[in-house]
Amino acid sequence: MRKSDYLWRRDALVQRNRRVATATLAAMLAVLIVAIPLAALLPAPGHRQAVALLLLLIGIAAAVFHGWQRRHGRRGGLACGYCGTTLLGTAGDAAVATDRCGRCGERVFDES
Ligand SMILES: [Zn+2]
Repeated sequence: MRKSDYLWRRDALVQRNRRVATATLAAMLAVLIVAIPLAALLPAPGHRQAVALLLLLIGIAAAVFHGWQRRHGRRGGLACGYCGTTLLGTAGDAAVATDRCGRCGERVFDES
């Protein structure tokens, strides 16, 4: 793919994902806002379990969102053609700067 095609596809994907990312963060914030007063109602031994459960849920949500973003990046043609790593975020920025995949080192953009 040409670098200009990559940049166009990446910008379009970022625009689409921005709404989902905002909704995900708002949902996580809402859970936190609701969970904090509810955790205070629990007896003292339950606080640690409530915090652990909350952190687990946040971790699961972050992992699901990360996987979803990688899957969309691959479907949108934003992956290295050699090793398949998704060229988004810092990996994408590094590829744009060097024209090479940060994972396998192969050229990811066509000449011109
Ligand atoms: Zn690669």
